[in-house]
Amino acid sequence: MQAEGMKKNLYSFGALLAALGAALLLAFSPPPPALITIGGQGFGQNVNLARLAGEIGHYQWPSRHRVKILRAFNPPTSPWGSGHRGVDLDMSAGSEVFSARAGTVFFVGTIAGKPSISIKHTKLIRTTYTPVTSDLAVGTAVKSGQKIGILQPGHPGLHFGAKIDDYHYLNPLLLILGPIRLLPDA
Ligand SMILES: [Zn+2]
Repeated sequence: MQAEGMKKNLYSFGALLAALGAALLLAFSPPPPALITIGGQGFGQNVNLARLAGEIGHYQWPSRHRVKILRAFNPPTSPWGSGHRGVDLDMSAGSEVFSARAGTVFFVGTIAGKPSISIKHTKLIRTTYTPVTSDLAVGTAVKSGQKIGILQPGHPGLHFGAKIDDYHYLNPLLLILGPIRLLPDA
């Protein structure tokens, strides 16, 4: 009888430890990420959707209106790997290019020999437009939909890119359209 009682106590002690362990795990591990994978597995493609709650749907087409996607997003599988770090939008050279969201000019210059402008929108997201010439200076505040430059020849249409945390490439269409309908136009 006594042994039985001790066994019971041991069991409940074990259960208590298990519960404590579970509670500790819950307290110290991040919530399960709601990951979306864009275009396959690899570097910079997995994004926790919960982190993008304030981003998705707050961006607009840099062409002002929806245009055809000439080339889809195909992020590199390593920081220097090959791929397509944005989407190409069907716009002709000479077209006006508009900021996808309000923000601050982060960079104006050349990227891989092509004139480019980057806008920092939030703590998380900045967008880049190539090949685009701009009169704007770094640090200039821009409104959503404000003209930021003129598309130049040298790439199929407008190369529109987005980065999260200043490092990972993100499909910029995700910011405009959400996780659905990310396929290129047929
Ligand atoms: Zn491109």
